[in-house]
Amino acid sequence: MPDGNVEHHSTDVIVVGAGPVGLFAVFELGLLGLQAHVIDIMDKAGGQCAELYPEKAILDIPSRLKITGQELVNDLLEQIAPFKPKMQLGEMAASLTKLEDGKWRLTTDAGTIIDAAVICIAGGGGSFTPKKPKLEGLEQFEGKSVFYSVRKMENFRGKNVMIAGGGDSALDWTVNLNPVVSGMSLVHRRNEFRGMQATVDQMYALVKAGKVDLQIAETVRLNGVGGKLESVTLKSAEKGEYEVPADVFLPFYGLTMKLGPIADWGINIDSNKIPVNTESFETNVKGIFCIGDMCDYPGKLKLILSGFHESALMAHGSFHYARPNQKLRFEHTTSSSSIQAKLGVSA
Ligand SMILES: Cc1cc2nc3c(=O)[nH]c(=O)nc-3n(C[C@H](O)[C@H](O)[C@H](O)COP(=O)(O)OP(=O)(O)OC[C@H]3O[C@@H](n4cnc5c(N)ncnc54)[C@H](O)[C@@H]3O)c2cc1C
Repeated sequence: MPDGNVEHHSTDVIVVGAGPVGLFAVFELGLLGLQAHVIDIMDKAGGQCAELYPEKAILDIPSRLKITGQELVNDLLEQIAPFKPKMQLGEMAASLTKLEDGKWRLTTDAGTIIDAAVICIAGGGGSFTPKKPKLEGLEQFEGKSVFYSVRKMENFRGKNVMIAGGGDSALDWTVNLNPVVSGMSLVHRRNEFRGMQATVDQMYALVKAGKVDLQIAETVRLNGVGGKLESVTLKSAEKGEYEVPADVFLPFYGLTMKLGPIADWGINIDSNKIPVNTESFETNVKGIFCIGDMCDYPGKLKLILSGFHESALMAHGSFHYARPNQKLRFEHTTSSSSIQAKLGVSA
């Protein structure tokens, strides 16, 4: 058994990926009485919708004439709330092993252990992975003074923080972290920012108030000993190379999507996609299912509505693994009083 310091959970189905498809899978599993535990490397749910186009209008969600990426995610979160799924955010689903009792044991990169009868991969285009700056000796500072996400603002209280980048994440964290840090600089190559205008304006207001030291420069070198950052060397045409003191460096240079550790789980993979059967969306490995953008079958369309359909069939396919001694009863939500009770609504 794992020791007392390790988070250890048990559930019916582990859903890897909190994109729109992973979220709707929680709903379809919930309708059948199956509990889900969702893992995502991102610190918020929503996958591509929340990360790549939160404010763009999606026009092909059935019955929704127009809905933004973030609104869709918010609605899905509200829809699954009655089923009380566990959400393990900010953690990567890392390794998978089979237990003697036939269940799966998934361990995250943070050491969290989750046991379940079924694994449902809803990994989309893969786990979002930060683009790293090309700086010599970067590895010695990673996880000590260099971070690619802000998992807890409290960790940065009283620190002298340097943020790098010119997009939404760099600007959002400049504004949000500013009240808790002791000092802050923002480095970007150009005095032009790609974020939302309101956030750009807030950032410039902080610069004007002397709370953010804006540096239009390139990052050249991290300086410090044993992973403890002391300063960052910057370079600009006007000043040449110069040092700016910092305890923490937060580079926000965008994200790429990578298949990541799922590639090592022993599942058939073809060109970064996981082939499935279209009856239940099960992979070649019994008890491991795949839905959404990451699955592949003849005619697959990478659309949210396809993922919703796949979720329903995956849930039905999962049932006999999670409840081997029970018979699955197919019910419509309009007429099932037990479903209505679970959702807290009356027909
Ligand atoms: C600009 C743009 C516009 C689009 N417009 C539309 C549209 O109008 N209509 C439409 O239907 N579709 C649209 N799409 C496509 C749609 O966004 C995708 O089909 C949908 O997001 C797929 O959902 P998903 O849940 O399968 O995957 P994703 O949204 O990619 O979510 C997958 C999640 O899994 C996580 N993950 C992966 N591996 C791991 C791991 N090992 N551990 C932890 N977490 C992991 C990722 O971090 C991610 O959050 C658009 C896509 C883009 C980029």
